Amino acid sequence: MRVPLPQSGEPWADLKARMRAYAGGDVRWRDGKTAVYVFNAGPEVEQVQKEAYGLFMSENGLGPLAFPSLARMEAEVVGFGLSLLNAPEEASGVITSGGTDSITMAVKAARDYARKEKGVTGPLNIVLPRSAHPAFDKAAAVMEIAVRRTPLKDFLADPAAMADATDAATMMIVGSAPCFPFGLIDPIEALSDLAVERDLWLHVDACVGGYLAPFVRMNGVDLPAFDFALPGVRSMSADLHKYGYCAKGASTVFFRSAALQAFMIFDQNDWPGGRMITPTLAGTRPGGAISAAWAVMNFLGVEGYCAKQGAVTATRERIQAGVRELGFTVQGNPQLGLIAFSHPEVGAFPIWAKLRSRGWFTSMTSEPPGLHLMLSPFHAEVAETYLADLAWALEAVRGETAPAGAVARYS
Ligand SMILES: *Cc1c(COP(=O)(O)O)cnc(C)c1O
Repeated sequence: MRVPLPQSGEPWADLKARMRAYAGGDVRWRDGKTAVYVFNAGPEVEQVQKEAYGLFMSENGLGPLAFPSLARMEAEVVGFGLSLLNAPEEASGVITSGGTDSITMAVKAARDYARKEKGVTGPLNIVLPRSAHPAFDKAAAVMEIAVRRTPLKDFLADPAAMADATDAATMMIVGSAPCFPFGLIDPIEALSDLAVERDLWLHVDACVGGYLAPFVRMNGVDLPAFDFALPGVRSMSADLHKYGYCAKGASTVFFRSAALQAFMIFDQNDWPGGRMITPTLAGTRPGGAISAAWAVMNFLGVEGYCAKQGAVTATRERIQAGVRELGFTVQGNPQLGLIAFSHPEVGAFPIWAKLRSRGWFTSMTSEPPGLHLMLSPFHAEVAETYLADLAWALEAVRGETAPAGAVARYS
C-alpha cells in the first residue's frame, strides 16, 4: 500500500501526540497484564535504558576504531556474560541484535567449522530437541542445512533420541536453558557428555535464561549445570533484551575459545570499498543497544539482578501453586521465569480469550494446548489478580459451551 509522504513536515509536538494516539490500541504492559514480548523491570530500569540508549543512538558499533567507547562497553558486557556463564579464560563473544542473530551466527560458525576443520563435504544437519526455538530452523533454512527434531521425554530434550539422530554430517546439537515453550532446562550435562564422546558442537540456547539462571542459582535454587562449566558446550546464546532487562536489539553469542569464534567472523576484501570485517549478521550496529546494555548491567549489578530475579521466581512459584489449586497441570518442573499449564477439562484458548477480555495478554503452547506466561519482576504486583481472573475465566468457560475447533490467534 502506497502512502504519500506529507508534503511539508509536521511539528514534533503534534507527531508525538499522534504517536501516543496510535499506541492507544496497544497492550498496556506497564500495568503488568502482559506476559509475553515485554520484560518489565520497573520504571527506574526503563529510564536508564532510554537515557543510555539516547546517549549513543547515532554512534555505530561497526566502527570500533571510530568509537572505542562502544568497543569498550561491548567488551565489558561480553565479559560480564562470560563470567556469569562460567566460561574459560580463552572464551570470547560479541553483542548481536537479538537471539535470532546470535543463533544464526553460532550456526554459521559451526557450519564453517564442520567444513573447514572437520572437512565434512555434502549436506549437513543440526539435531534439535522438539522444543528448540524456530530461530534454528530459520538459520538452517538460510544456510540450507537439514534440521532433525527429536521427540521430548517429560518435556525435556532426550539425549538418547538425539544421539540416535546424529551422524557424520551432524554439525551441531542443541539444548535449551530453558526452552521457550515450557521454561525447562534441558539435560545439558548428558548432551555435553554426548558432544565430548562424539566430538560434536553443542550449542546451549540460553537466550531466555542466560541472564536469569545465574542469579536464580545465586539466590539458592539448585539448578542443573547448563553452561560452559560443562566441557562439551562450545557456544551459547543469551539475550540481553530479555531477562537482562536491556533495551531491545541486544543479545550475546559466546564461544568456548576465540579460535572457535573466528569461524563466525565474515571478512570480505574483494570489492572496491576496502576490507570489511563484520562479526555478526549486521553491518551497521546500533550504538544505543550496546550503551543501554552496558548501563543497565552496571546499574543493577549482581545485587540488583538477584533482587529482580528473586521477584520473578517468587511470582512463578506463587502462580505455579495457584494454578495447581485450580486444577491445572503444570508442564514439568519450571525453575525460572516461564511456566506453561493446561486444564484437563477446559480448553486453553477459551480461557485465554476470557482473560484477554480482562486485559491480560499472554501466550499459549500448542503441544499440549496450554497457557504460557513469561514473568517479569513487575508481575509480583499482579500475581493475585491474575489468579483471581484465571479462576473467574475457568468458571466462565465451564458455564458456556466452547465453540469446537477454536484456533489461537494472538500474534
Ligand atoms: C527469545 C528466544 C530466542 C530468539 O530470540 P529473539 O531475540 O526473539 O530473536 C531464541 N531462543 C529462545 C529459547 C528464546 O526464548
